[in-house]
Amino acid sequence: MVTKVYEDIFMINVVLPNKPLKAINVYVIKGEDKSLIIDTGFNQKECIDSLFKGLNELNVDIKDTDLFITHLHSDHSGMAGIFKDAGVKVYAGEVDGRYINKMTSLSYWERFEDSKVLLDLEKDKVTFTEHPGYKYCLREPIEFTYVKEGQGIQVGQYFFEVIDIPGHTPGHIGLYERKHKLFFCGDHVLDKITPNIGYWGTEDNILAVYFNSLAKIYSFDIDILFPAHRNIIKDHTRRINELMIHHKERLDEILNILQKGELSARDVASKMKWSIRAKAWEDFPNAQKWFAASEAMSHLEHLYYSGKVDKRLSEGKWLYKLK
Ligand SMILES: [Zn+2]
Repeated sequence: MVTKVYEDIFMINVVLPNKPLKAINVYVIKGEDKSLIIDTGFNQKECIDSLFKGLNELNVDIKDTDLFITHLHSDHSGMAGIFKDAGVKVYAGEVDGRYINKMTSLSYWERFEDSKVLLDLEKDKVTFTEHPGYKYCLREPIEFTYVKEGQGIQVGQYFFEVIDIPGHTPGHIGLYERKHKLFFCGDHVLDKITPNIGYWGTEDNILAVYFNSLAKIYSFDIDILFPAHRNIIKDHTRRINELMIHHKERLDEILNILQKGELSARDVASKMKWSIRAKAWEDFPNAQKWFAASEAMSHLEHLYYSGKVDKRLSEGKWLYKLK
């Protein structure tokens, strides 16, 4: 499904089969001889068909495009290899670009075995091979054109500036069009769902990094925020305020759960409220258990760095308790 969302700007709704996210919004900015595509969808047949059907409808040949990847997740970067094979320039931030290339090797995913222990997910018998990020990622490393904060990309009548908005991933980037007050924000701000803020191990307090990136774009003059999933956002300050409240409530919820005693990230996650159809933790699909435990961990780390909880390592897993 293709929708015109602004002058020369189109949105292709690329299906993500059997995923709670349902679809990704791939944006196409039409220029005179070159168009810019923002994000791709998984490296999965249904997604590929869906994207190319949309490009066909728009009369866009991928040979006449540049591709911009907002962040490393496979639903955004999975098809980058197809574009590269067609001779397309693929823009990415250096931090996430390097991750995307590392994700093509099994050793990157084997690292998940360690985080499985840290998060205490061993007892759920989850495996990374069921992780959609693994199943539908790029298969071979590619040469990215790395872009930095403030760098400009001209497409037709639009001049975009690259903006660093880390948090959802360590090197998430977006595109700001100052004159028309447009911002393409990937998964940084979403409506109605909330972006997953997970534990990366590389950042001490990724939730604080995310809050800083929310505060950063709060002050930007933006008329329309174009997110990679669900609804286009007309009032970005309203949505950012809601997200801040959401995480504050999450932090309070976790402090409450820790009154029960010392718990692992997985045990905290299993006691939190999630807006997913499964009734009990045991019914969560494996991938959702990863996301949930990882999200609980980023909040627990934030509480630790805020001095509200203590943590200790026990048999390879982090255990948290109230101070
Ligand atoms: Zn994402």
